[in-house]
Formats: sequence, structure tokens, C-alpha cells
Amino acid sequence: MPMTGKTKRASWTNWFADHPYHPAQTVLETDALVIGAGPIGLWTVFELGLQGLTCEVVDTLDEAGGQCVALYADKPIYDIPGLPVVSGSDLTQSLLQQIKPFHAGFHFGHQVSALSRLEDGRWHVQAHGVHTGKAQSFAARSIFIAAGVGAFVPKSPKLDGVEALQGQHVFFQYPDSAPLTAGKVCVLGGEQAAVSCVLQLIREHPALTVTLIHRRNVLKAQEADLSRLSALQSSGRVEFVIGQVSALLTSDAAPHALRAVQVDTSEGNLIHIDAHTLVIQQGLSPKLGPLADWGLAMARKQLSVDLETFSTSQSGIYAMGDIVQYPGKRKLIVSGFHEATQAAFAAAAVLRPEQSQVLQYTTSSALLQKRLGLT
Ligand code: FAD
Repeated sequence: MPMTGKTKRASWTNWFADHPYHPAQTVLETDALVIGAGPIGLWTVFELGLQGLTCEVVDTLDEAGGQCVALYADKPIYDIPGLPVVSGSDLTQSLLQQIKPFHAGFHFGHQVSALSRLEDGRWHVQAHGVHTGKAQSFAARSIFIAAGVGAFVPKSPKLDGVEALQGQHVFFQYPDSAPLTAGKVCVLGGEQAAVSCVLQLIREHPALTVTLIHRRNVLKAQEADLSRLSALQSSGRVEFVIGQVSALLTSDAAPHALRAVQVDTSEGNLIHIDAHTLVIQQGLSPKLGPLADWGLAMARKQLSVDLETFSTSQSGIYAMGDIVQYPGKRKLIVSGFHEATQAAFAAAAVLRPEQSQVLQYTTSSALLQKRLGLT
């Protein structure tokens, strides 16, 4: 099989590493729910913390940093005030360190899906695990949407029945939870994540038969991994099929168990490949998703905001960073930092009306220094 030695980013394989699952037995109560753990979501946590407000943060990714980590982790950024040069991942680490005193709860690997108003005026927010499909609910006094260009979610072909099989027979990360001692597994994808997944499956489960399915006759991964894959293909341990998965097949007797995947091959044939597990590793793409259906005023697929408070058209819901649009908006980190700061002050005026609105400085305020854990 022809393969190129290019890889987008070796650490993509780690993105869907295991993460702790927060079960939904309880509704988490919080002053503020922050949607998005990109640089602006993290700075929002800081500003809310200075205002004495508690935070829970939800992100579809398995780590903080948003675009800075997902798209350009090792590239230098030169326009963060006070930092002549910083990489996307170092900026994220510094922000995480800076918000530590506020003990925000993080819910990685979760996508915010539904929103409704509770009778007491708070917001009920539903999130679900992108790997597990399981739910987590929040009751929040305010919501801060720092969702950037959208939720980074795994790319998936449109296949009937994926949801019903997900977590048991269909996976978007290495299938640790599947019973894999023997049998047939299909891996879908043509880049590093898919190749690494095949190699790991063979390494950890010698009795497995693995089929790699990709729509093109070219794989993009590290040279060493491609050589290993070629050797496994020659020895018959791995099969490579060029085509598109067009259906998931189950049997009438066991409608919730995968039996085979149907592939439209590059030669125009329809074939069935026996498999009890399908691992989809086709990378990530940003999707605005359900936020677009919340009835908030939008312009060009971005949220419209009040320029003083960064409130959306719905009271109690604020927005900041790349997700917002207003005349003169610049999609820069420094602009998002300002927007988050304004929104936190505005929310504090509503949620903590008893608190003095007189501006305090971190250099001299005993209250702010106490909240920062310095006194
Ligand atoms: P993001 O970084 O996009 O983070 C949003 C987060 O929200 C994501 O992690 C996403 O998964 C999550 N999310 C979205 N929807 C949901 C949902 N429903 N549920 C759960 N989670 C959700 N800016 C600069 O100032 N200087 C630069 O030099 C610079 N260089 C750049 C280089 C590149 C290649 C790119 C692509 C951008 C660059 N930018 C730069 C722009 C900068 O990265 C963005 O302005 C910044 O990341 C916006 O931050 P954010 O927190 O608003 O959104």
C-alpha cells in the first residue's frame, strides 16, 4: 500500500486517552458554567474567581487549551501582552496555573447539548460524554459561552445506528472497554491516530484480526509506524481495505451487537467485513452544534453580544472569545481576555449585588489576594 511519511501531529493519538467519567447521579450546582476550556474559557474562570464566583468548565476535548492546543500546540505566539513569545501549550499551562486557586471543576470529554430555564431562574445544562454518551447535568446561576469555533468532535461518517452501538461496539478512541481478546476489529481512518490504533490493537491482543479501512490508497503517519503496518500486512495480521463504510450490520437476534461493516470499495463493489468492533479514527472537526439552537441572537453563525457586559440576547448568558461577533471584533486571544473580564464584572453585579462594585486591584486588595490564596 502506498504511504506517505507525513503526520499532522503525533500527539493526536493521545487526544482520546482515557479520562475520568463523571456520573450523572447528581446535578452539579454552580455560580457559573463555562462552556469551553480554550484560552478565553480559562481566563473567564480567573476573572469569575476574582469576583468570588464558583465555576464548572465543560469541554469536548480531553484537555484544556482549545485551538491553542488542538491546532497549534508547539507554534510560537508573539502577541500575548507581557510574554514576548509563548507556545500554545505553554500559554495553556500558564493559564491553568493561574486559575488553580479557584478550584474550578473540569469536565473534559463532555459536550454541552441542552439548555433550559429552571423555575428558580437558574439554568439547567445537560452535557454528554463524547466517548461514553453518558449524561452530566448542571444547575448554574449564569452561563459563559467561550466555545470558540465550536466543539472539537470526532469526525464520523453518517451511519445509521452509530449511537446505539457506541461504547459497546463502536468507539471514537482506543477501545479499552471492549472485550477484545479475540475476533475481528475494523479501524476506520488514514492518519496517525488510525495507524497507531491498529498497531496498539495488534500489540495488546495478539489473537485479534484487524482490518484498516480508508477511502484512499495513501496513509499519512510516521515512517516507523507505516513500516510496522506494512510488515503486519505482509504477515496477514492486518488487512487494508480501500473504500468507505456505508452501513453497520447487526443481526435480528442481536440488534445491539455489531456483526459486520459494509464497505463501498474503490472498485465500486459492496463488501461486508465481519467485525464485532469498529474504531473510528478520522480526526476532529469543530462543530457549533446545539449552541446554535438555543434561540440566542446570532450574526454570521456567531453570537451577538452587548459590548459593555458581553451578555447575549438572553439574560444570565454571556459570551466571549471567537464565538462572538460585534462591529470591529478581532479573533485574537487578547480581545477575548478583555471580553471575559467585562462579562465577569457584569455577572458579579447581578449574582453578588451586595458586593462593592468599586474597582479593586490585585496588587493592593486584601479581598482579591485572599481569593487568590495569597493571604
Ligand atoms: P477556542 O480556542 O476555539 O476554544 C473553544 C473550546 O470550546 C474548544 O476546546 C471546544 O472544544 C470547546 N467547545 C465548543 N463548543 C462546546 C460545547 N458545546 N461543549 C463543550 N465544549 C465546547 N490568536 C492570537 O491572539 N495570536 C496568535 O498568534 C494566534 N495564532 C493562531 C494560529 C492558528 C493556526 C489559529 C487557528 C489561531 C490562532 N489564533 C491566534 C487565534 C486564537 O487561537 C483564538 O482566538 C483563540 O483560541 C480563541 O479562544 P476561545 O477560547 O474563544 O476558543
